[in-house]
Amino acid sequence: MNVHLLAVGSELLTPLFRDTNSLYLTERLNDLGYEVAFKGVVGDEPLPLSRAVRRSLEEADIVFVCGGLGPTGDDRTREAVAVVLGRELVLDEKILRTIEDRFRRRGKEMPEANRKQALVIAGAEVLPNRNGTAPGLWISHGGKTAVLLPGPPFELRSMAEESVWPRLPRRPDGPLVRTVLKTTGLTESEVETLVHDLYPSEPSRRLTILASPGQIELHLSSAADGVGECGSGLAAVVREIRGRLGSRIFSDDGAELEEVVGRLLRERGLTLAVAESCSGGLLSHRLTSVPGSSAYYAEGCVTYGNRAKTERLGVPAATIARHGAVSRETAAAMAEGARRTSGAEIGLSLTGIAGPGGGAPEKPVGLVYAALSDGAGTITAKSLFLGPRDRVKFQASQKALDLLRRRLLGVEIP
Ligand code: AMP
Ligand code: MG
Repeated sequence: MNVHLLAVGSELLTPLFRDTNSLYLTERLNDLGYEVAFKGVVGDEPLPLSRAVRRSLEEADIVFVCGGLGPTGDDRTREAVAVVLGRELVLDEKILRTIEDRFRRRGKEMPEANRKQALVIAGAEVLPNRNGTAPGLWISHGGKTAVLLPGPPFELRSMAEESVWPRLPRRPDGPLVRTVLKTTGLTESEVETLVHDLYPSEPSRRLTILASPGQIELHLSSAADGVGECGSGLAAVVREIRGRLGSRIFSDDGAELEEVVGRLLRERGLTLAVAESCSGGLLSHRLTSVPGSSAYYAEGCVTYGNRAKTERLGVPAATIARHGAVSRETAAAMAEGARRTSGAEIGLSLTGIAGPGGGAPEKPVGLVYAALSDGAGTITAKSLFLGPRDRVKFQASQKALDLLRRRLLGVEIP
């Protein structure tokens, strides 16, 4: 069963807008056991639009066409699909009444432009739109299905939940199961070396390694559910990967590192104070992006200058003078100071050189020290990160969060 997704809208071909509808549709389709074979973005021009629709209707069994159902002159999806299918557009009086009523409820007359939203491709089933004027259309044509949905994500989602998924039979071979293992502390090639012999040979199973700064993810998917042969095969691969990567894996349920750390702090009833230099508040931002973080996040301090480190955290001026602001000793004193001055159980700190300037041979750009202070003492970690400023800052925050995670789990810190 071959599914194509087409996003229609010239704005989606500019750097200003992105096609997010296809991500939602793919997720729900996968849940029902459908795999998306192709997706594309096409502008509002009639010719490329009808060409794209024609090609997908030839190649795919089910085609979703999203967007271009609005009232304006550049919304041409209905017309293009009608032309490709060789069907008429007919005015649906019931839809017209519904749209007129929508305007009336807001004390307005329906503009003439909205009339065309009541045009229906002959023989199509109408999918009601609870959140807007453009109805969707479900068309069966020569053993294939075309589904036309409005572009605004809020409208598309509610329409799909209400009218599309209930019409689509669940595939007999079950949902596409997916496991995402997130790791930190290893490079992409280190992960690859550890798992290179585990790539499944069956085409129905997949292993993909995705790298981003400070985080390598292993995405595993299988065309069958956990009870089938393929599903249990996937489970065996996941088990093997877990065994090899161990505590480098911080999440298998979609959670980001800040959420994982938040859960651990909450479970243990501990509070945290943060002192940041090179990360400029990013670490605190990430920690406090988690709903409910007030249960464990006590306070954070961006002590960027030396004087702030000394006056707010009590880092001895002599420590900075002797070892420098970017040093193991200063990082440790910052973490201890954050803990002492806040009364929190744990102090966590970062100091480093984010670049692009300010590096020296013995202290290059990307040098970052993280430190953690708790009742049992103070630990530090030195890292050398590559890349521009924002990448160094993110990787620094990732390192600090992982230092905290490992300390809370009591696993060895490499
Ligand atoms: P339309 O149905 O073409 O009138 O779409 C109206 C608005 O929906 C556009 O201006 C976009 O903001 C949004 N939109 C359209 N297509 C998509 C898409 N594929 N992903 C996310 N937003 C979209
Ligand atoms: Mg549009």
